[in-house]
Amino acid sequence: MDLDIVELLKSFPLTEEEQKIVVLPSDVKPRHPLDNGIYVLGRVLNRRRVNPDAFARSIRPAFDCFQPLNIKFLSRNKFLFRFTHPGDVNRVLNAAPWHYDRHLLVLQKMEEDQWLGDVVLDFCPFYVQIHNLPYLSYPQEIPKLVGDMIGKFIRADLSPQGLSIDASLRLRVAIDVKHPLVRVVKLEFSDGKVFTGFVKYEKLPVFCSDCGLLDHISEDCDSGSTSRGMISAPVEYGSWLRAKPPKALGSSANRRIRSSQYGGKFAPAGSDEEEGPAFRDVFLDNDQV
Ligand SMILES: [Zn+2]
Repeated sequence: MDLDIVELLKSFPLTEEEQKIVVLPSDVKPRHPLDNGIYVLGRVLNRRRVNPDAFARSIRPAFDCFQPLNIKFLSRNKFLFRFTHPGDVNRVLNAAPWHYDRHLLVLQKMEEDQWLGDVVLDFCPFYVQIHNLPYLSYPQEIPKLVGDMIGKFIRADLSPQGLSIDASLRLRVAIDVKHPLVRVVKLEFSDGKVFTGFVKYEKLPVFCSDCGLLDHISEDCDSGSTSRGMISAPVEYGSWLRAKPPKALGSSANRRIRSSQYGGKFAPAGSDEEEGPAFRDVFLDNDQV
């Protein structure tokens, strides 16, 4: 249902006929018993409207599904995807975060008996790197403690001995897009020493440099930040929050491709550039949740 109509309907009374409620049988499910599709709900995090048709035209080649993909427009910037092959769904979700026209696309797989209105679209998995921590290798309890300070911890990218690829701690974390990006984590050790870790995000789409939210850029910000228009004021949320996938020193593990291979505005998020009409480069690093 269009959210704008929902708001509109609150502004005037309904007729007596319209106020009647039909009670449904208790065994009615959200889907037809013959429908074996796999549903994913998606929302483009942009305060401006995106064109649904242009979105669908871009997403099809980007998702590159083996089996048919059906896309339906639900309401402002919100879409329902019906996949027919589990492999397609898993590949798309594992490659998150995705972006459309440099804005984050939040995806949430729906459960078998879940109703559309019950799906929360607030979390998106990212790879985050925490730099400047004093560890030689990472003890077992540290990744979850740190990950839950940034969002919801999913897993750590560590060897069984707690070894990381580079000096940073790399975690898969579901970020709550309702909140500003977390820039630092502070850890206090038993001797009272406090260490500040710097958080960086891989494949970070556009975000507001004033308030750190992902659904707009600073020109559209209503935070009333004092930094805007003041040349001398530091950027509170800057490009230093972006990170490339880690690589061991002396290796050339990361492959880069031109965005022309994706075509259009849609791609797994991955540019280090904040400006420009579209990401020029994306990383193919085969993210796994
Ligand atoms: Zn803002």
